[in-house]
Amino acid sequence: MFKSVAMLPGMASDLLNVLVDKAFRREAPSRSEALELLSDSHDVLQVVAAGSRVRQAHFGKRVKLNTIVNMKSGLCPEDCGYCSQRLGSASDVLKYSWIAPEKAAEVARQAVEAGVKRVCLVASGRGPGDRDITRIEHTIAAIKQDSPLVEVCVCLGLLADGQAERLAAAGAHAYSHNLNTSESRYAEICSTHTFADRTDTLRRATAAGLSPCSGAIFGMGETDDDIVDLATDLRALDPDSVPVNFLIPFEGTPLGGRWELTPDRCLRILALMRFYFPDVEVRLAGGREIHLRGLQPMALHLANSIFLGDYLTSEGQPGADDRQMIADAGFVIEGADEQSLPEARHDLVAIRRRGAGTNLPANA
Ligand code: SF4
Repeated sequence: MFKSVAMLPGMASDLLNVLVDKAFRREAPSRSEALELLSDSHDVLQVVAAGSRVRQAHFGKRVKLNTIVNMKSGLCPEDCGYCSQRLGSASDVLKYSWIAPEKAAEVARQAVEAGVKRVCLVASGRGPGDRDITRIEHTIAAIKQDSPLVEVCVCLGLLADGQAERLAAAGAHAYSHNLNTSESRYAEICSTHTFADRTDTLRRATAAGLSPCSGAIFGMGETDDDIVDLATDLRALDPDSVPVNFLIPFEGTPLGGRWELTPDRCLRILALMRFYFPDVEVRLAGGREIHLRGLQPMALHLANSIFLGDYLTSEGQPGADDRQMIADAGFVIEGADEQSLPEARHDLVAIRRRGAGTNLPANA
């Protein structure tokens, strides 16, 4: 017996057409639309194809490369349940105190030579002290001396008064602070700080002129409703970039051994994030290799940005394999001189950070 035309996998459903149209108007999905997308009532190929229309309209075939420099690893006093660096973690990860600015600049330079456009300086801990901000100021200066065009994103935890302003003045482009999971279940994954602490820091960073970067970790027991709540709260913060992590279940952490994601589920989550953030950098982040596995190239049709190299405490796919994957899937690496975000998301007033009064050449 033949399937009806409406059921054929080659046909986009009404829901998918509605979501694409809404995304082009920068409207978020309704809750019921989002929940339907996450369910298995639509063929995943069609879900990816629909999200891809939005991705390509705003970002073409470009893939932005980012890399992480772990400035200080392990021994954190916070207790985030997903984190191998948490208080009491029995994970056998690298533990070290602050690396020197020159060492960070060397790592950054190698990454830039490999095509990376954004360097993310990350340190474990609840938040930085003022001496830590000074270290990061020196590190940004060292990186910019070698690679003036690279975007530097800083991720140091909760910010206190004046710290975001210092980072912006030092030349940081962005501040990253993930919401991680929905507000209603935040206390289940962390007891030492709150969801509100996190949104407060992101607002401080935005107010200081830093480009806000905030995303999530999926695969921690969240329901579809939690995912929709999280996407809604993230959208209210109006981030410029949204990292999408899939739990790396480190042994020695409370979430060790938790393997609840499938490639199909990851693709639906990524598509949902694309519909919530149509013209925002959706970044494929930690856990992509182990959860998407052979379907990683399909994720490039939804995300326009990926991390290259290793993560904070675990190793990623070799950079050469990532570059080959991007080329094989028909995408191109975004150049340093190309604008990442669509024009509509750009503030037309760009604060001068080159020429007189700086160490950078003037815009001659
Ligand atoms: S996520 Fe950050 S704050 Fe939480 S335990 Fe890990 S390093 Fe500490």
